[in-house]
Amino acid sequence: RAKREGRGRVRFFESEMDQELRDRRLLLHDLRRALEQNELLVYFQPQARIEGEVIGFEALLRWNHPTRGFVLPDQFIPLAEENGLIIQIGEWILREACREAASWQRPLQVAVNLSPVQFQAGDLEGSIQRILLETGLAPTRLEVEITEGVLIGDFNGALDLLRRLKALGIRIAMDDFGTGYSSLSYLQSFPFDKIKIDRSFISNLEATPQSGEIVRAVLSLARALSIPVIAEGVETEAQRAFLTREACEEMQGHLVGRPDLIERYLDLVGVTVERGLSV
Ligand code: C2E
Ligand code: MG
Ligand code: MG
Ligand code: MG
Repeated sequence: RAKREGRGRVRFFESEMDQELRDRRLLLHDLRRALEQNELLVYFQPQARIEGEVIGFEALLRWNHPTRGFVLPDQFIPLAEENGLIIQIGEWILREACREAASWQRPLQVAVNLSPVQFQAGDLEGSIQRILLETGLAPTRLEVEITEGVLIGDFNGALDLLRRLKALGIRIAMDDFGTGYSSLSYLQSFPFDKIKIDRSFISNLEATPQSGEIVRAVLSLARALSIPVIAEGVETEAQRAFLTREACEEMQGHLVGRPDLIERYLDLVGVTVERGLSV
């Protein structure tokens, strides 16, 4: 009897896995069309000085799926990375973000996330160069965000490409800092322009004393290396007060503003009414 139950359970797991596989295949099929069907959107989230002044925006990918509704990046970027679609998608969001930023009256910065896959395949340097030229955005206004995943694998190749990107005049930020295995050692291999302290440390500030110590340690290390720090996921005044006390320079999070269509932030970027109407 136990045997039968056991077998039944195995079969149940199998069918669940089949379903997951089918679902992934369906999603991938849809994702291939998402670009041409105009289902991908760029959301923008403000980045501010710790005192409150907005200094730029991070571009965040959104997929408005015809039947599933809004799909978040964590649900489809890994899929896009597995089959290389991220190359096209990454180039698309880079172009959209630069074009958008170039239209602002205020010369705020725009930050775009890059996938490790974009460092391994395609012509990242060429495509960034082309997009800057095409959109007329000053390179100094573009920041690209990478995670340590970029430096895993072909370490020297990735470093070399990072150096060439920096030579274009753009800035390189280390995203999700503190969550990886060897974040610290990467700081000595490349002159990052900014460190983004991962959201998890900020959201645990009140609940776990260790988080506060980690944030403090990252800030003092960054200060020693003269690298500015932005705290991710700042949601409360208490978190902001802590960061102010610890001399963290910048913040990003719901306290400043949620990711949204740029239309919501037109007053900040200083776009004329004329353009606002024609959008
Ligand atoms: P990330 O680059 O670390 O982006 C920050 C994430 O934190 C975003 O999630 C943002 O919506 C969320 N967030 C910001 N402030 C708060 C806050 O105060 N509270 C909370 N709870 N969350 C906050 P999102 O948009 O879902 O993106 C998730 C991740 O997907 C990003 O993490 C990034 O790694 C990746 N991603 C997004 N867009 C792109 C893209 O265009 N290309 C690539 N390669 N990856 C992207
Ligand atoms: Mg990011
Ligand atoms: Mg992050
Ligand atoms: Mg992240």
